[in-house]
Amino acid sequence: MRLLLVEDTEDLARSVLRFLQSEGHAVDHAADAATAQAAQAVAEYACIILDLGLPDGSGLALLKTWRAAGDRTPVIIATARDQISDRIAGLDAGADDYVVKPYDLRELTARIRAHARRGQGLPETRVRVDGLEVDRAAARVWRSGAEICLTAREWALFDALLGARGRVLHKSSLQEALYAFDTDIEGNAVEVYMSRLRQKLGAGVVETRRGLGYILT
Ligand code: CA
Repeated sequence: MRLLLVEDTEDLARSVLRFLQSEGHAVDHAADAATAQAAQAVAEYACIILDLGLPDGSGLALLKTWRAAGDRTPVIIATARDQISDRIAGLDAGADDYVVKPYDLRELTARIRAHARRGQGLPETRVRVDGLEVDRAAARVWRSGAEICLTAREWALFDALLGARGRVLHKSSLQEALYAFDTDIEGNAVEVYMSRLRQKLGAGVVETRRGLGYILT
């Protein structure tokens, strides 16, 4: 998933980034409100983790701007333990959830996954696709009870297709899903991993729409 982390405390940002990337997410980092605003204007994020106290403004003001513009990207605000009024203001301003600093990174990623699924209109963790049983929270897939072991890159592609819910995904969107692993993505990386994914999932699960991209049948 492509995520935006808005956090100006360098150490915290670094450890959160590292953890989210190790979980296979493509994460952009903004250390101030202006960068966050610029990033949000050009990229489509599955979820935003938003610190409220930023050097050039407040995360709350950013959130209000986004919501006023009709942007519904899931937002999780990060607040200090004693700032209950901040949490209330954040939720009132349209945040979907909050975490209290210092937060547990595994809990944060579980919340991100839950809100991202809801943002895609797919709140369920367990889904069935073309004879496959999928657990999106655990990143696992089975066919007829037998687990199909996907690598992190294959899963990233498959999860992006699941999130598209039957829409055709262009190669560039899938390239973005791989961006977390290699910032220098080879031109044919999507084709390479897609071909491995297809071998594992079986014929007909992922279709190619020539010139358009890929779709989950
Ligand atoms: Ca801060």
